[in-house]
Amino acid sequence: MLNFGIKAFTTIFMRFPSSKLPDVKTSIFSVMSKLAHEEGAINLSQGFPNFGADNDLLALVNTAINEQNNQYAPMPGIYSLREAISEKIAAAYGRTYHPENEITITAGATQAIFTAIAAFVKQDDEVIVFKPAYDCYEPAIQLYGGRVVPIQLKGEGFKIDWDEFKKKLTAQTKMVIINTPHNPSGSILLESDMLQLQKLLKNTDIILLSDEVYEHIIFDGLHHESAAKYADLATRSLICASFGKTFHVTGWKVGYCLAPKNLMIEFQKIHQYNVFSVNHPIQIGIAKYLQDANTYLSLSNFYEKKRNLFLSAIGNSRFKFLPSKGTYFQLLDYSSITDLSDIEFSKQLIKTHKVASIPTSIFNLNNADNKQLRFCFAKTEDTLSRAADILNKI
Ligand code: PMP
Ligand code: GLN
Repeated sequence: MLNFGIKAFTTIFMRFPSSKLPDVKTSIFSVMSKLAHEEGAINLSQGFPNFGADNDLLALVNTAINEQNNQYAPMPGIYSLREAISEKIAAAYGRTYHPENEITITAGATQAIFTAIAAFVKQDDEVIVFKPAYDCYEPAIQLYGGRVVPIQLKGEGFKIDWDEFKKKLTAQTKMVIINTPHNPSGSILLESDMLQLQKLLKNTDIILLSDEVYEHIIFDGLHHESAAKYADLATRSLICASFGKTFHVTGWKVGYCLAPKNLMIEFQKIHQYNVFSVNHPIQIGIAKYLQDANTYLSLSNFYEKKRNLFLSAIGNSRFKFLPSKGTYFQLLDYSSITDLSDIEFSKQLIKTHKVASIPTSIFNLNNADNKQLRFCFAKTEDTLSRAADILNKI
């Protein structure tokens, strides 16, 4: 009765406002995880670990809560965490971001990315986005009146065609977004890519938004090429990262943004009004945990073993692997199995075979279907083996 009343009221007195994002639907990660849950499928779709975080980290956060650090943190984040991040970045990439005014603790990388776009993208600005692209960039650009200029990454290695990039640069280009290691492909940018990018952006006012959430998950002896390593790129970059990925705590939603002071001033003007500050006891726990660099330096090795285990377990299947050089994702090409679209096949995999993955056409330019599914290997050995047994029979 009550529902009926509300419905009648809205119908009579209010015309529904037009959508600011008419093309945006529920994120593929929510859709696939829900379907996996409903179908009782092994969930290798949405990217999150199915194992626990380190007890030492949990104890540090628990202590911070029990010691009553439960009120607002300072707007940019607690100083000791900003200091710990500054030291970590200086050690890894040789550049010092001042804890006072060049680092902000954010509610995960998603909020950092949204805030960076909100702070700089104006009506009719162009933003270059490499496709396939993680799903949170484009809606934010559109919301602020920006125009997405997509460039498809090329071939099995998902390489940037730098000639095409050069042609897409215009007087309207406000921002370029890169993501290395790259979700969903697991590809990485090499030093040669970063040098090309640096050369092409030199003497422009273009801002670089560098999504580096998988900075500590990189394989085969390769090294992460942070924008922080490149002097000219660093002066124009906002670098976004996430403790969710690094410490197996995606649900905590704590990350950070690094940028030179002049960019960070604008970033914080937005940050203070879209979140103000983020979870205080978790910041205290992470600041202490970061004192031991092994907590994150061992991560590449940890995930490389999982990648290798997954790949060797499905070595005799009909799926073809694409190279995964970083992240905790593996693309599998299923073109020798079926002509079904990746969306149809991923649904069939869940419903009939009880394994969930992510169709990648969602992230491609014009939703091109390359018959590739993304599987998350941030799972226990048992889960990966059970999933592999199923994939081997398909
Ligand atoms: N960027 C990429 C490439 C991601 O994969 C993710 C999440 N998996 C994010 C940003 C968002 O990170 P967070 O969960 O910390 O918001
Ligand atoms: N980044 C995670 C992934 O790629 C998903 C996070 C989310 O659901 N928003 O699967």
